[in-house]
Amino acid sequence: MDTDKKQYDKQKYNRTYYNKSNEAIKIQHKKYYTENKQTILNKCKEYRILNANKIYHRYSCGCGGYYSKNNYSRHTKSIIHKAFINTD
Ligand SMILES: [Zn+2]
Repeated sequence: MDTDKKQYDKQKYNRTYYNKSNEAIKIQHKKYYTENKQTILNKCKEYRILNANKIYHRYSCGCGGYYSKNNYSRHTKSIIHKAFINTD
């Protein structure tokens, strides 16, 4: 019970902190990105190469279609998938 309250207080604190300093945080993030742009881009590129199997893996769906993890939401909105769901 006590930990729940603590967690709630932390969430509340984070929310108020974010609302209060929203612009400052945005500026800080932008500054960090511009200063470390090349490093960040290299890390992203490295991640995509190392995890290509995970990122681009094609999963087969019950509707007979295929999707990858990053377009699952788009797949669920597709005509083929919707038609399959409606036939149940
Ligand atoms: Zn589907």
